Amino acid sequence: MILVENPHQLLNGNNKLDIKSNEYNHDYYMGYALQLAAQALAFNEVPVGSVVVCNDTGNIVGMGHNRTISTYQTCMHAEMIAINNACDYFKNYRLPNCRIYITLEPCAMCAGAIIHSRLSDVIFSSYDYKTGMAGSLYNLFELSINHHTKVLGGIKQKESKEQLQSFFRKKRQLIKINKLSKIYPQF
Ligand SMILES: [Zn+2]
Repeated sequence: MILVENPHQLLNGNNKLDIKSNEYNHDYYMGYALQLAAQALAFNEVPVGSVVVCNDTGNIVGMGHNRTISTYQTCMHAEMIAINNACDYFKNYRLPNCRIYITLEPCAMCAGAIIHSRLSDVIFSSYDYKTGMAGSLYNLFELSINHHTKVLGGIKQKESKEQLQSFFRKKRQLIKINKLSKIYPQF
């Protein structure tokens, strides 16, 4: 497992993976995004991970996991970091020949960034019925006139759902314990 403290450092290293044979293996890349999501837990972040993949080479050119809480930055969603990472890699603010994998359906901010960066495809794992903008709550990708990003959801959904549910279950337990400890200090 790769610890992504600073994804930029990692990409400046030897991250050119020879995975051409897995070019369109969605499970493979989603598995990688799930590993990144697991790393988010080390920062007490919501476990969401993302990778950007070059369509030509099959190489992972960008990666990230949620870092909003630990950095106090609203925009540090996994896919925003992965997109910035890939843009740095290509020294280009557009990524028309790349696709993105995310362990959770993108929100409005991230869907906008995906369209602006001209990614060819967005492949996500769990559906987000509260804020998902790739079909669940709304579909921003359908509305885009400038650029059409293909959307595919539900890849390795069982794994990502388990990660998210376990995280929020623990959070709820902590809140409950905190509340109880105020009422019953001996708790
Ligand atoms: Zn987002």
